[in-house]
Amino acid sequence: MSETVKSIHEFDFSLICEYFAGLERQGPGSPEVTARALSFVGPLPRDARIADLGCGTGGQTRTLARLAPGTLVGLDLFPLFIDLFNAKAAVEGLQERVQGVVGSMAELPFEKGSLDLIWSEGAIYNIGFKRGLNEWRDYLKPGGYLAVSESSWFTRERPDEIRRFWEEEYPAIDTVPNQLALLHEAGYVPVAAFILPETCWAEHFFAPQAAAQKAFLAKHAGNPAAEELVANMRREARLYDAYHAYYGYTFFIGKKV
Ligand code: SAH
Repeated sequence: MSETVKSIHEFDFSLICEYFAGLERQGPGSPEVTARALSFVGPLPRDARIADLGCGTGGQTRTLARLAPGTLVGLDLFPLFIDLFNAKAAVEGLQERVQGVVGSMAELPFEKGSLDLIWSEGAIYNIGFKRGLNEWRDYLKPGGYLAVSESSWFTRERPDEIRRFWEEEYPAIDTVPNQLALLHEAGYVPVAAFILPETCWAEHFFAPQAAAQKAFLAKHAGNPAAEELVANMRREARLYDAYHAYYGYTFFIGKKV
């Protein structure tokens, strides 16, 4: 890859980071849903070791830290997100128990068999649901828990426009029964699966973006990459509005056997 291409990619990444850094969440979800998923986990020991993979700026990690015992490590590829993660944890007085580190979910910096709980909201798609389930299992203690949210098809048939969108964005999206089978095959007891309410997308994900988009576009006026990013996010919001009967996010909770 030439230097020019590389620098264009880096530039796009920094724009994407800037766009999402100002938001409380970088994916669909809510504090209620985090609490609900946690209600299927455990009981956890007082000194539980928890990892939140693809934590972003840590909206859900801080919810988790308020509700779960032990220590939490948030892991994300982007240093800007981790800086914000650590700053926000400090503001809430959580810095003794919550630490953000830069790293990849494809190469976890933990000892195998050391974690009580692996958490990941709206992020496992970066390495793929099946691969994440299989690789992350090694890092859990026997009887440890995994709680991940992932995009799912809700129906067996779906309109062409939305089928094509997902074929381009994430062809590994699957139906909930098939995803439960993957969880089972990867060596977990499927403890629970529930579909995230629509408010997790509309109120907690798209609405805050709509407010931030105007300021972002004004700051980057005339920058085609910034305009394209906003256009893509608006398209995602429009598609969700039109087709949310056909897809959404599912929270899967599994226990390592
Ligand atoms: N869990 C957060 C963020 C979800 S967005 C929330 O629900 O709000 C997905 C996150 O995965 C982003 O923060 C992105 O930077 C991160 N990510 C992408 N690829 C990654 C990788 N290979 N390893 C770790 N994090 C990654």
